This record gives sequence, C-alpha cells and structure tokens, in this order.
Amino acid sequence: MNDGSPFSSPLLDQVGGFVDGAWILAEVRPCFVVTDPANGEVLAYVPELGAAEARAAVEAARAALSRVGSLAERRGWLTRIAELLTEHADELAMIITRENGKPLGEARGEVLYAAGFYAHAATSAEHLVPRVLDERPRGLTWTVHHRPAGVVGLITPWNFPLAMLAKKLSAALAAGCAAVVKPAEVTPLTCVAFFRLLERVGLPRGLVNLVAGDAQAIGEVLCSHPAVRVLSFTGSTAVGRKLAAQAAPHLKRLSLELGGNAPCLVFEDADLDATVEALVANKLRAAGQTCVCTNRVLAHASIADALATKLASRVAALVVGPGTEPNVDVGPLIDGRGWDKVHDHVEDAVERGASVVGGALADRPTETDGWFFRPMVLSGVPLDARCMQAETFGPLLPIATFTTEDEAMAIANDVDAGLAAYVFTADGARAERVARGLRFGHVGLGTATGPTPEAPFGGMGASGYGREGGLEGLMEYVEIQTVPSS
Ligand code: ADP
Repeated sequence: MNDGSPFSSPLLDQVGGFVDGAWILAEVRPCFVVTDPANGEVLAYVPELGAAEARAAVEAARAALSRVGSLAERRGWLTRIAELLTEHADELAMIITRENGKPLGEARGEVLYAAGFYAHAATSAEHLVPRVLDERPRGLTWTVHHRPAGVVGLITPWNFPLAMLAKKLSAALAAGCAAVVKPAEVTPLTCVAFFRLLERVGLPRGLVNLVAGDAQAIGEVLCSHPAVRVLSFTGSTAVGRKLAAQAAPHLKRLSLELGGNAPCLVFEDADLDATVEALVANKLRAAGQTCVCTNRVLAHASIADALATKLASRVAALVVGPGTEPNVDVGPLIDGRGWDKVHDHVEDAVERGASVVGGALADRPTETDGWFFRPMVLSGVPLDARCMQAETFGPLLPIATFTTEDEAMAIANDVDAGLAAYVFTADGARAERVARGLRFGHVGLGTATGPTPEAPFGGMGASGYGREGGLEGLMEYVEIQTVPSS
C-alpha cells in the first residue's frame, strides 16, 4: 500500500477485501481511492469489489457456521479482540484520523470505545446459556435455546469506522453468527487494519469477511441472498429505507440505526456553564458528524441570549485543524458534499432571519485545503429552517426558543427522526416528565454523552429499529428456539 504513498502503517501492509480467509488484493482489478479529508492526500487504492465477491463472502460465511466455536470459545475470541484493539490503539487511531479526519485523541477514544463493545459482549454472552422453564400443570419443562441467527450482513458508515462495526460484530460473534462486513468507501482502511488484527485471533476460516467497493451491488446481495438472515445497517435514512425495501421480499431481520435530529432542551433553571461544556463536547465530536450530535438547541426564551453568548465564546476558543496535530479540537468534515450542506444550512437560516452570533461563513475550500469548517452559533433560528428540519451533520449550533415545557416537547418531537435527545434543567421531576414525553430512543438528562456497550441504543420513528449494545443488542443476532421435554 505504501508505494509512493505518504501514509504507511504496519496494519496496512495488505489493502483489500478479505473473503474465506484470504486477501483479495489490487493486482488486476479497478480500485477506488481513499483520501485524507484534511489535505486531499491519497492514502490508498483499494480494490473495488462487487456482487461476485459479496456472494463468495456469504458462501464462505455460510460454510463457516459449522465451525463456529462453543460459547466459551467465542467469549475467548471477543476478549482477545478487545485486547488487540487496546494494544494497537495508537496505530488504529492514526488510520482513523487520516481517513476520517477526527482528532487523534478522539480517534484513540473510538478505538477504546470499540474495544469496550467486544469486552462487554464477552461478558454478556453468558445470557445465551439455555433457560429452562417449568410448565407446572403438565409437569413439563421447556428449554429456551439462543441459536445463532446465521450469516449476517453488516454495513457501516464512515463517522466511526471502527466503533460502528464493533457494536454489530461483537454481538454477532457472541451469538455465534458468521459475518460479511461492508465498510464505507471513504473509510475502509480502519476496517482493513482491524481485519489484519482479526487474523491473529484464530477465528475459523470464513467466519468474518470484508467486502468493500460497489455499495449498491454488495447491498443487493446482502439483502437478497437466502443465507443472510440478519442485515444490520448504520447510515442515512434514505439508504436504510432502500435496504428495508430490498430485503422485505426475503423476510430478513433488519437492524437499522439511521439519521437523528437530536434536540437539546435547555430550561431556564439549567446551569448554563455546565450545559455549554456538555453541548460543545457532544456537538463537536467528529466535527458534528455523528447521529447523536445535537442538531437543534431549543432554549427557554429567558436564557437563550445568555446561552448563545456563552456558546459563541466557547466555540471561538476551539482549535480547528488537521486531526494529526496536537491540541486540535475540531478536524475537517469528511468531504465537499458535507461542507456544502453545513454552508447551505447556515445561509438558509440567515435568509430566514437567524443571526450569526459565533463564527462566520468562509469561502469554499478546495480538497487540498481540507474540508475545514469553523464551528458556528446561530440564534433566533426559525423552526422551518433547514437546519431545524434535517440533520446538518456539521459544526453548526442553531438556537431556537420556547416558552413552556409543553411547547419545548412539541418542538422536539415535531420531526420524523427519534434517536437522541438531551434535557438540561435543575428540576429532576421536570427532567423525568420531559424524558417520558420525548419520542427518542436515547435521552440524556443533564448529560449529553452517547451510547455505551452496556446499554441498548437505537431509534424510534425514522431513526430506525433494532438496538445495539446491552442484552437487546445481542438478541438481534439470536434465534429463539423452544424445546419441550417431559
Ligand atoms: P452517508 O450519506 O452518511 O455516507 P450512507 O447511508 O450513504 O451515509 O452510507 C452508509 C453506508 O451505507 C456506507 O457503507 C455506504 O457505502 C452504504 N451504502 C450506500 N448506499 C448503499 C446501497 N444502495 N446499498 C447498500 N449500502 C449502501
């Protein structure tokens, strides 16, 4: 991979797909290019795989099902994966930063976060032991078995190239499934490096396969191949809908973690300094490109100006630059399309009457400049502005106001998405009341942190269905079989 490339990593000595225990490398096929969003540098040429390789991967995974180990053996694999990730956190973090753009500290945090999912799955797999039930009147017992669902297709996005896969694959392996993984084309290298580490775990051949390339062609195979029983996808609502439609005739079980439009409700009694710290950490992680990033700040009218001023001065102090440089808080956006969307959302809101209170619009950079976007704060944003209606996926903090608790909840719920929401108030009873009224799968009360391995996470409404993390996340990959015995 390193012929003339400015980027090398011991974990990227082979770059390609991985099917049935063998690497598919670039020698003869067309490749796609992976670039660094901070400067446009070419990081790697990756073989573009398609339907044929996806089918081969599914077949390899199907064959590997007969080689899936015992529960104890699987728990050993998961523990080993967590160890390997932790041991190689720095190398993996550098790969994440180069292809995704996020600052190295955040990237390292992602590696350890991913390791946590494998470590947790090793523990929670204990719930998969058969459960014996008594049927008293007839003196029967029933055994409830947790059988592996089978071959699973895992399609992941670019904003957490390691962690989003960890959420899915940890549960799938714990359950005894075999997997075909399709990473996002803009960030496949982290996944390639991870597969180099997986080779050291000693998994059965074909149990875990990697196919990067033609998303549509690979997606069609994963949706239609009879051996695939579960399809787990994290990405946009548009692609999620398409996959659901494609998979419907084949009755596959789907787990969809789609876009959010997270509201952050700030009541008049909230500690504004603490709220600003939590909000900035939540909003500017991955430069605002996560589905749990606050998209809409909804502030009580009496404190909205004070909140805007504090937020503006806090974001002004942030360092924006290449994620590889020390002290950088906010890296580049993933690409020009992402940059244009944030720019468009700011222009649209200002045209509709919003005021810029932090940051300023800059000229469009080129790819070699890097897709940097200084965080901006807008106040007085009308609810029909695009940045209130759709996920901006960038470092924009738009503030709208409310005057009553009911109005705050109504505005928060008045979107199709229902993934994450946050509530800041000093009144515990109100926090509980508001959480109960919010149609979001994850509600932070006085905190804006994201999901953890221990807790189920997922959406309501157009944010999808299914859960990741916790026992519920494990059960997505399990078929229940009940066997009566006398
Ligand atoms: P984004 O717009 O944030 O890139 P996407 O939903 O397009 O989000 O991408 C998330 C994942 O879905 C990526 O791995 C991408 O390659 C994949 N993907 C995109 N289109 C399709 C498709 N038609 N079928 C299957 N996977 C797809």
